[in-house]
Amino acid sequence: QAVANAHADYVARNPTSAKAHQDAHVHMPGGNTRTVLYSQPFPMAIKSGSGNTINSADGASYVDFLGEFSAGLFGHSNPRIAEAVTEALKSGWNFGGESLYEKELARKVTERFAACGLEVVRFTNSGTEANTMAVGAALAYTGRKKVMVFTNGYHGGTFTFPVDLCRWMHAGCSGPPPCQTMNLPHEFVATPYNNVAETRAIIDGLPEDSLAAILIEPVQGSGGCRPATTEFLTFLRQKADNLGALLVFDEVMTSRLAPAGLGAKLGIKPDLMTLGKWLAGGMTIGAFGGRRDIMQMFDPASGSKSLMHSGTFNNNVVSMGAGIAGLDIFDAAKVEELNARGDRLKKGVTDLLLDTGIYPEKEAQYLGDVLEVDSFETNTRLYTGSGETSSLPPLLISSGGSMLNVRFTGTDAALWHNLYYHHMLNRGIYLAARGFTPLSLEITDENVDMYVGAVKEFLDKHLESL
Ligand code: PLP
Repeated sequence: QAVANAHADYVARNPTSAKAHQDAHVHMPGGNTRTVLYSQPFPMAIKSGSGNTINSADGASYVDFLGEFSAGLFGHSNPRIAEAVTEALKSGWNFGGESLYEKELARKVTERFAACGLEVVRFTNSGTEANTMAVGAALAYTGRKKVMVFTNGYHGGTFTFPVDLCRWMHAGCSGPPPCQTMNLPHEFVATPYNNVAETRAIIDGLPEDSLAAILIEPVQGSGGCRPATTEFLTFLRQKADNLGALLVFDEVMTSRLAPAGLGAKLGIKPDLMTLGKWLAGGMTIGAFGGRRDIMQMFDPASGSKSLMHSGTFNNNVVSMGAGIAGLDIFDAAKVEELNARGDRLKKGVTDLLLDTGIYPEKEAQYLGDVLEVDSFETNTRLYTGSGETSSLPPLLISSGGSMLNVRFTGTDAALWHNLYYHHMLNRGIYLAARGFTPLSLEITDENVDMYVGAVKEFLDKHLESL
């Protein structure tokens, strides 16, 4: 009933969005081109954004805690990014030739992520493409076929490995998963995230010399902001070395969490890494790179071993120019400041959950998921892969620094997510329907406190039924 009431209220307040969504079905199945934007009863149409605020087509303003699913790191209409784009456009675009911006961005990106082993890089239009190329490179380099991935891992629309991820990503829906994934036809081996024992057993059962790559997000972003344990990543690094497979870190999201990438912070170097999201100041981008001896295959002068990698817009001046400006803005101090703001949000919500008894005790550790009061370094949580939901509290907040996720568990999780989403909208807070909250640089401490206050109201209202 609470959900039905929330929907009725939403419908009444968003007639323009409703009509726009409905009309768009004539031209686009689903009314838009991004499945993840779906939420019940219908998604909100956004008209404009400025700083930390977005404005709906129905004339309401919200503090933007969605941050374009982490690509909106710089907030809306950042003047330095806007200037960089304008400057780049002054000299024309679409040259069908090498771009000087591209070379400068490559220099900056390799310098920044050098401690992750990013010796050389190439650009793409999206994180999905970056992972496609990285995996392709690993197959070609090793001459093998199998690609190890992890449950609830998300590496783009053609690399999605749900256990409950699909349902989870479309938390606006109730009922069974609303979609099937359409993955590339690789020989994927899906393994439980953070589970050393099961992963070891699966790897040991593989035919010799069959594993080409291990592809992992050091924090699962779409899977609910679940950090991998250092133990797990270290284990994967060692296994890859022993087997001659390549370890690929998908840092499309997590590269925002540490000045030189999360791999550098954790002291674990992948062979290849992928980047994207915030990397071009909010413009379209992906990037992949790593060890020079592997990436050398993309040099057309490298002879018969050379690999094709093309893409009309790979070096477009808008993304390249904005990326150069963005890397300057998001320096080490800003990275840490943003992580601290994320920690403030997390502490605020965690304290509420402790007060209500949803979290039984401060140092509690939940098998299978995150009550992560610790930092990355002291992260000692375990994942058994079994009994995951039964051992979880009904509501939790998981995070790594500036990437957070308020998450409901159990059989009614989708309904709760939808109710939470509408509750937050009513409090002037825009966030992903699945509770994903990647902070932008425009979010202030006051905004964070407002968010925590809205969570408190939610708990005051609904705690009994949770
Ligand atoms: N990898 C990760 C970890 C992501 O979170 C995403 C997008 O959410 C992607 C890859 C795909 O990036 P894109 O949406 O730019 O294709």
